[in-house]
Amino acid sequence: MKNKSVNFNRDLRNNIDKTQNYTLTPMEKFNILYVDDEPSNLRVFKDTYRRKFNVFTASSAKEGIKLLEKQRIDLILSDQRMPEMTGIELLKYSLERFPNINRILITGYSDIDAVENAINEAKVFQYIQKPWNEKSLSEVIDGALRIYQLEKDNIRQQMELQEAKEKAEENDMLKTEFLHNLSHEIRTPLNGIYGFAQLLGNEDISWEKRKEYVKIIQNSSVQLVNTVSTILDFSKLITQQVDVEKQEISLNGLLRELYKVFELIAKKKKIEFKFDLALGDNESFIYTDRTRLYQILSNILDNAFKYTETGLVKFGYELENDKIKVHIEDSGVGIHPDNQHLIFDRFTREEKHLSNNSSGLGLGLSISQENAKLIDALISFESEKDKGSVFYVELPFKPTKSSKGPNASELFSSLLANRTKKLKVLIVEDEEVNLYFLDILIKKITAPHDITILHAYNGKEAINTCKANVDLDMILMDIKMPILDGYEATRRIKEFMPKTPVIAQTAYSTTEDKEKAADAGCDSFIAKPIDKHKLEKIISVHLLEK
Ligand code: ADP
Repeated sequence: MKNKSVNFNRDLRNNIDKTQNYTLTPMEKFNILYVDDEPSNLRVFKDTYRRKFNVFTASSAKEGIKLLEKQRIDLILSDQRMPEMTGIELLKYSLERFPNINRILITGYSDIDAVENAINEAKVFQYIQKPWNEKSLSEVIDGALRIYQLEKDNIRQQMELQEAKEKAEENDMLKTEFLHNLSHEIRTPLNGIYGFAQLLGNEDISWEKRKEYVKIIQNSSVQLVNTVSTILDFSKLITQQVDVEKQEISLNGLLRELYKVFELIAKKKKIEFKFDLALGDNESFIYTDRTRLYQILSNILDNAFKYTETGLVKFGYELENDKIKVHIEDSGVGIHPDNQHLIFDRFTREEKHLSNNSSGLGLGLSISQENAKLIDALISFESEKDKGSVFYVELPFKPTKSSKGPNASELFSSLLANRTKKLKVLIVEDEEVNLYFLDILIKKITAPHDITILHAYNGKEAINTCKANVDLDMILMDIKMPILDGYEATRRIKEFMPKTPVIAQTAYSTTEDKEKAADAGCDSFIAKPIDKHKLEKIISVHLLEK
């Protein structure tokens, strides 16, 4: 006998059951429930389909409901005539409770009223007449499952789209907020610099006032440089342009340095500031990238002071098996439990109410997190609102052999002390301020040893100076310069002074720039703003090689 079937259009989207898992892995079988009070029908059904599907059977509607409640079911087939509760009642129940499961009614020829009800009330996918034949029933089941799968996919895609939309809106909001913060972070120090520089121009101000204005200008400049550095660091980290340079470093030395930097802030804010070193200086050597670690810890310390108005900030570390766990504790505003999962996200900031102290771009912790990944460190924290926070940085620790060896500065100093000839360095730089800064920095690094520093303002002048001073020990070469750039100047200088080390120094430090500098013949590369330790290291490496 031919089975009659009716298709039914439904709008499932209104009935998304968000608690359901909408993805079925390709290897997973569909779960089918067959409800019939006739045991022989259940047996035949099970034997026919058990290879293709996970078949569940129930001999009454109530039993079927129990199964539906505890088991994921993708399709229900139900006989109509059953004692206590009919098939339509069961299917109606399942429509209300599990709207996305497809339903098929199986009924005798005479039950045409039931079919009408099934379509209207239980919104069945199709109905099948008894006795069913396998081929037709299989086609109906396959059709129902295909539609069920499509609907599931559709719902899943809608949910994904909704999530993506919400994420995009959130990102958009964060970006707007970020730009707003950025504008604030740049304008505030700029106003300070601009305003007080103008005041300094007045001739009739006292020496005291002059000193005060200069201090404000200096502080504002530091703030501005910090903001620009934060943005540059962040963009370098997310575009993976950061080189990791692991070396043996003194953790105690680094923490002392941080203490010195933050001590000034502590004094200014009248906050108690303590640190504690668990290992002796000779044992505290770790193998890591100093710049990355410094950046992580200084960001966390910076936050500790930023978000603490009274009380204390203390830091130190413990040795735990093969790990060093640095802790930074504060008695500040703390972070609300609802926001704790957000603070490592880019551009996110908890408070907006700390008006005078709310400076920041919401990038510090995400920068720290990216840095931590590069040096296999792990950042975690505990925080209680209005009580304070403790941040932890876990680092791999292997005691190093050369713990007692001299540090880079000591090595460099002894190297210079052993030289008979005075050190002679050429700085090629077109910006007067940068030139002045480098001059001071190099003199500081090489102090107390005597040094001759020559200056050139462009590539052409650099070549001429080199021709007149072939005994130069080193050249610090800016890249972007008028008349002749640093690449070309280096190429020409290397033709007649191949052994003199040339160190490229530039504000742009992409891998491509480094390659270009190396192709031109530069021996090393240092990014601006120039870090004293890095320059010291580069100079000593090249002097050792000479
Ligand atoms: P920023 O400090 O520039 O806003 P961060 O990424 O460093 O950005 O920190 C993100 C947010 O985490 C901060 O805005 C602040 O709400 C919260 N936070 C971080 N450290 C602390 C801390 N020590 N105490 C209280 N809140 C903190």
